[in-house]
Amino acid sequence: MTAPQRLALDGAALAANWRALSKLSGAAACGAAVKADGYGLGAHAAVARLLAAGCRDFFVSSWNEALALADARLADAGATLSVLHGVRDADMAAACTLAARPVLNTPAQVQRWRDAGGRACDVMVDTGMNRLGVSPGDVADGLLDGLTIDTLISHLACADEDSAMNEQQRTRFAALAGRTSAKRMSLANSAGITLGGDYHFDLTRPGLALYGGVPVAALADVIRPVVRIEAEVLQRRMVRAGETVGYNATWTAPAETQVAIVNLGYADGYWRGFSDTGRAFAGDAVLPVIGRVSMDLVALDVSEADVAEGDWIGFDPDLPRAAKASGMSQYELVTGLGQRFDRHWHG
Ligand SMILES: *Cc1c(COP(=O)(O)O)cnc(C)c1O
Repeated sequence: MTAPQRLALDGAALAANWRALSKLSGAAACGAAVKADGYGLGAHAAVARLLAAGCRDFFVSSWNEALALADARLADAGATLSVLHGVRDADMAAACTLAARPVLNTPAQVQRWRDAGGRACDVMVDTGMNRLGVSPGDVADGLLDGLTIDTLISHLACADEDSAMNEQQRTRFAALAGRTSAKRMSLANSAGITLGGDYHFDLTRPGLALYGGVPVAALADVIRPVVRIEAEVLQRRMVRAGETVGYNATWTAPAETQVAIVNLGYADGYWRGFSDTGRAFAGDAVLPVIGRVSMDLVALDVSEADVAEGDWIGFDPDLPRAAKASGMSQYELVTGLGQRFDRHWHG
């Protein structure tokens, strides 16, 4: 069976994006966040291509995501996997058998890991985001003394903005150098890499930009699109002037219009925010979305193109533009890509 909607995934672009971010990371190693199933593209396929490109440091959120990558045999390739949300009691069985390190975030997690023998872990320190991590004060008070730490991590709240908070967080993080047993320090996500060499430390952790997202203008000429939605035309129809298309009749034909009804909708992560604003392409012709995006269907104005029932239509692969059109973040657009797509890798 094939699905009437698919993702065209450019493996060469994914590898090129990693290499570009690695180069921008200077002397620091460049890892990859592959949480949320590789930002919606498919973690297995992404990891295989990133490994081949040279990436050796991978990040997921939770132990079920680590388990799903167990057969990627990262350790055999000399690579490691870190689990950003640390360990709950319920995770300990998996955490003690899988070849992955927890990123410990709380004093309770630190204690749990010590009680279990305390093999190498990573630790997240909160430097001002107030999301995850132990406090620099707790570190100063000895919370991490004697713990075997591979990488000390912190996370920037405003890396995609020109904000004084970036330098504040960087300074707090840098002050922790030499205060723990950590072999490495890591601060920057995709946008953080562009803040300059002072932000790179030993390891960078891009996610979004690997997958074609452009969180800051500095990456616009560096990052290539990786994912394009393609979907099949289910019906083509002529709509007379004055008639409407779709739920709630929000679009009225100003003149006789050729319309293609396509197998794609918000259940696939093609959100309602694309109603009247999204775009697809047939060759050079732009096909505007008209009316409301439905759960499983979307209507396109194909008056300017030779589009027939059964044709495949490519949707806009430019994530910054699609984010603007839909009012969603680039992160939401990729991680929201649904399970109905066939995922076709090329390159
Ligand atoms: C998701 C995540 C990243 C990757 O961030 P991007 O903005 O997608 O580059 C890096 N570090 C941590 C701790 C994360 O949670």
